[in-house]
Amino acid sequence: MVTYTRVFKVDPVRPDVDVIRYAASVIREGGLVAFPTETVYGLGANAFDARAVERIYVVKGRPIDNPVIVHVCDLRQLELVASRIPEDAYRLVERLWPGPLTLLLPRGPRIPYVVTAGLETVAVRMPAHPVALELIREAGVPVAAPSANLSGKPSPTRGEHVVEDLYSRVEVILDAGETLYGVESTIINLLSEPPMLLRPGAYPVEDIERILGKSITVPEFARGLGEAERALAPGMRHRHYAPNTPLVLVEADDYSELQRLLDATRKVVLDHKMRGLKVAVLSYTETYRYYEGVADRVLVIGSRGNIYEVARNLFATLRAVDKLGVDVAVVEGVEERGLGLAVMNRVRKASTVKIKV
Ligand code: AMP
Ligand code: MG
Repeated sequence: MVTYTRVFKVDPVRPDVDVIRYAASVIREGGLVAFPTETVYGLGANAFDARAVERIYVVKGRPIDNPVIVHVCDLRQLELVASRIPEDAYRLVERLWPGPLTLLLPRGPRIPYVVTAGLETVAVRMPAHPVALELIREAGVPVAAPSANLSGKPSPTRGEHVVEDLYSRVEVILDAGETLYGVESTIINLLSEPPMLLRPGAYPVEDIERILGKSITVPEFARGLGEAERALAPGMRHRHYAPNTPLVLVEADDYSELQRLLDATRKVVLDHKMRGLKVAVLSYTETYRYYEGVADRVLVIGSRGNIYEVARNLFATLRAVDKLGVDVAVVEGVEERGLGLAVMNRVRKASTVKIKV
């Protein structure tokens, strides 16, 4: 089914009131609006409207068992979405909202099961982007929104990524340029004791632990390693955030020995070249020259010394890979510290082959 899409350029700080009002009316009437947040672009629908949320799954091609996050603009809305709010949740909300932190809470009765994929928990966050906050406030309802990409593709960090994936599928796209963090929110389950990290994201888990005054469990799957096990069963592999081009990840055991990582990555490139394949490398400001004259193309994600820059550019770089005309891409890993945990989670899920040196 083809939908007429209206694309609006909006100022990220002072969005045009009339555009926000129009987009909010589309949400209220059961339509879909793609909007910027400080993490990635979201695809929003009225969280109380089961049919509107069902359409999110259809247009993204999203598996029905993958729940979506509910976005709120104030604490009154939070109390409509969750049936109970533990003390720890209030502590985090006070310090970190609005911001890229999503909390798992007991589902409120008005939230339909299509939002939570049948679960009795609901994931909630308050985004910090002025356009997102204004949109939710003006809509007057909480907004259910996963990332505004086709399922499986890298998340959208620029308006043009959303247009590429969702044009003719949604009613409105609000384009406010590039997002700030470039990776999704951190998801914490506060209902388990100790609290558990469900997805690393833009807020480092170390900072959240400091505020709570207790440690948070980081399971293997939050590091992006669970999928690797399932990949052992043929056909079960669920690639995510992925370019169409096969992606080889080269990770180090110890990132203080960078030269070993570079040599191994270079060897992977040469092995593929010998088989007559065209190869791209995704590298960093400090090290990209190492592949000149070896790889066919070299993309710089950012500086190893600035993990924020790496996170911000990651998804755009993964999208760019498919436009290079190469047969395979090779990416160097980064240390799993701070935002590096989120970066490695995304890169592991995007890769077809992982090599550890
Ligand atoms: P996306 O916004 O596309 O990155 O997807 C939202 C993510 O939030 C999903 O992939 C889930 O991992 C997570 N999520 C949302 N609701 C729940 C929930 N009730 N329980 C566990 N995880 C959730
Ligand atoms: Mg997503």
